[in-house]
Amino acid sequence: MNIHEYQAKEILNGYDVPVPRGRVAVTADQVERKAKMLGGRCVVKAQIYAGGRGKAGGVQVAYHPEQAHEIAKEMFGKRLVTPQTGPEGLKVRRILVEETVEVGREYYLSIALDRQSSRYCLIGSAAGGVNIEEVAASSPEKIHKLLIDPYTGLRSYQARKLAHALGLEGGVAEDCVQLILNLYRCCLDKDCSLIEINPLVVTKAGWLLALDAKINFDDNALFRHWEYHEMQDYSQMEPLEISAAKFDLAYIKLDGNIGCMVNGAGLAMATLDVLKEKGGEPANFLDVGGGATREKVAEAFRIILQDSDVKAVFVNIFGGIMRCDVIAQGIIEAASDSHCDLPIVVRMDGSQVAEGKALLEQSGLNVQCADFLGDGAEKIVTMLQQAATDAAQGQERG
Ligand code: ADP
Ligand code: MG
Repeated sequence: MNIHEYQAKEILNGYDVPVPRGRVAVTADQVERKAKMLGGRCVVKAQIYAGGRGKAGGVQVAYHPEQAHEIAKEMFGKRLVTPQTGPEGLKVRRILVEETVEVGREYYLSIALDRQSSRYCLIGSAAGGVNIEEVAASSPEKIHKLLIDPYTGLRSYQARKLAHALGLEGGVAEDCVQLILNLYRCCLDKDCSLIEINPLVVTKAGWLLALDAKINFDDNALFRHWEYHEMQDYSQMEPLEISAAKFDLAYIKLDGNIGCMVNGAGLAMATLDVLKEKGGEPANFLDVGGGATREKVAEAFRIILQDSDVKAVFVNIFGGIMRCDVIAQGIIEAASDSHCDLPIVVRMDGSQVAEGKALLEQSGLNVQCADFLGDGAEKIVTMLQQAATDAAQGQERG
């Protein structure tokens, strides 16, 4: 789960990580008032669920409150496109107004879950700032990494080693050690999958400060943090992903035209692979999970149909405990409600499979059943091509 920079900074502040003074605002008038409170000169920062804002005009210095108002008015009106947002960008609905910091030097610092070792990894670089992705690609030796043993936790000598690798010395190095230990404490308490400070700066006056902050919470731990629910900004999320989350469905939008309903992440990946191999382009990844009910299947199917990019639907479900006739009922319910005439291929296996197939065949939907994954993927690609040819011929005639 994502949160905004200003929320991440509030959390870090609670762990004694120094951050610039700042206030969040939702209108240009508010931005102007907060700018006055900060003494006039300030940095206006778009709050979106993506980084790379600096290079895209989402972080701008204002020299007086009226200018802050002008900048904010323009930011609120548009979708900010950064290298991390995709071409359609994200709408700016909140702005952080922050004191301007005299930056001496910029560093990169993060603690991330490393899936390979199943440990937190402390990462730092003296080449922090807006070009860190390029540094990681062209000079990986400039990025220092240190795995944290979950039994001993992060030790101060390790934090010191990193601070020295960044080239810090004396009092600032010791401040950095404290800051790193505080970050680790925050990571554990808050179940973060990532805390990233880029840039961490040493100001011209010699103070250490987190100038940007990004926190991701581990979705598997959300149940023990009731407070996170209220922190979520739904305007930053794909609407269909929000509906999917309500029904506990894992939905990820992709850019093809075949909606895929699958149970289990492994089967989902296999399905996407085989579909691609047969020349199909998946429009999404929708996993209904193990114990899907008729309602859940129907909701999943509705979500797929709401995506206007979807021109055909491929269902690949391994029943096992789930009964195939129940799955079929869910599909028929949702497809009939939405008056769906798109090509559908259902490949399912498990208990009551014959009953399930019979229900689908009698349903009057534009549906075909398949026995194997490869066979199903081929069928849906063919049906989609056929539908496109029919539409073209219809247009010629009409
Ligand atoms: P992003 O990572 O999305 O580009 P940042 O918050 O890192 O956004 O800001 C981009 C750059 O803007 C930073 O690297 C820093 O140089 C500058 N910056 C950000 N906040 C401030 C601030 N409060 N004072 C001065 N400069 C800032
Ligand atoms: Mg940044």
